[in-house]
Amino acid sequence: MFVEDVTLENDNEARHFDGFASVAGLKAEGQTSLLSQLKGYDNLRLLTGHAVQHLLGSDTDTRQIAGVMLDNGQCFTADTILLAAGAMHSPRLLQDYLNVSGLSDTLPVAKLVGRYFKRHILTAMLTFSLGPKTDALRKTTAWFHDRFPHSSVQPLGFSEDVLTTLIPRIVPRFIARWLGKRAYGFFLQTEEGSHPDNRVVAKNQTTMGLPKLDYDLKRLVNAKQEHVQMVRNFQSTLSKAGCISFTKSIPLAGTAHACGTLISGNDPQTSVVDAAGKVHGIDNVYVVDGSIMPRISRVNPALTIYAWSLRIADQLLQPTIIKKGGQ
Ligand SMILES: Cc1cc2nc3c(=O)[nH]c(=O)nc-3n(C[C@H](O)[C@H](O)[C@H](O)COP(=O)(O)OP(=O)(O)OC[C@H]3O[C@@H](n4cnc5c(N)ncnc54)[C@H](O)[C@@H]3O)c2cc1C
Repeated sequence: MFVEDVTLENDNEARHFDGFASVAGLKAEGQTSLLSQLKGYDNLRLLTGHAVQHLLGSDTDTRQIAGVMLDNGQCFTADTILLAAGAMHSPRLLQDYLNVSGLSDTLPVAKLVGRYFKRHILTAMLTFSLGPKTDALRKTTAWFHDRFPHSSVQPLGFSEDVLTTLIPRIVPRFIARWLGKRAYGFFLQTEEGSHPDNRVVAKNQTTMGLPKLDYDLKRLVNAKQEHVQMVRNFQSTLSKAGCISFTKSIPLAGTAHACGTLISGNDPQTSVVDAAGKVHGIDNVYVVDGSIMPRISRVNPALTIYAWSLRIADQLLQPTIIKKGGQ
């Protein structure tokens, strides 16, 4: 997020803001909004460079998580565990624990962990018209259309030099730069509805010993259809306005919006975490990342994920719902 008047005085940064860090510190990104503010707190230790490898069960009750083990063998214990490794890794950690502890045979949620992986179906579009484009801030709107209720279009916040890099190398660079100056970039995205068979499978559930993402867009026929029609419609509207557009569909490997996999809901038969973020059937594990999203909506997910996480943190600070006196 930008403070606009300050940003526009920094033209170069303004035109590069989408996907790039701000060396002038103009963005309210993690470093500014969180990490720098946490410096100096004696009761907080941030450990980087080592991944959590396992959740550790308590000696007396498998439905209690005692802590975590890192990939270097170090262990940490806590009364309350917040799982926030993202929609690809959080389900793997939980699946592994459920398998090792034997809870996968008895806990109803076990069959749902990792399922309903979802992302946006994405198409990138470059649109050219004759006049050079001079906008500093481009990624300021999202457009909707009633005929495409799960879809949105947003400008890419890229300047002409970034857009130029998206033009195929076969085009001579001086032509690409000329075109880049006259281009707008767009992201066209459609919520894909999600399917239970699109899922993350932990490594000890596969024969090869590797974690796996089982995902097939063919399982989501309606969403795919809506996306294709929306792209065609937008392209034809732009052509009526004198613009010529080229599209590239973004494959699964290019997704930036991995969600689902530990979906929230009231019923342990159909969801993994409850409305308080707690895993159904496990006493002290709360999920605070994009895994919990039962729907992904037609726009980008980060603010919803932050809102969920802040809400869970607020709830955990209320003495009534803290299970074991954790902080
Ligand atoms: C280039 C890019 C641009 C984006 N732009 C936007 C945007 O403009 N608007 C928007 O809404 N969304 C945007 N997104 C999407 C947004 O960043 C994600 O939806 C969001 O960050 C997901 O949050 P999360 O907490 O679920 O997971 P993450 O942010 O992925 O957090 C998970 C964290 O857990 C760590 N981790 C994983 N496994 C382990 C482990 N075993 N042990 C310890 N740590 C672990 C990971 O390193 C990571 O830091 C963008 C994404 C990308 C990649």
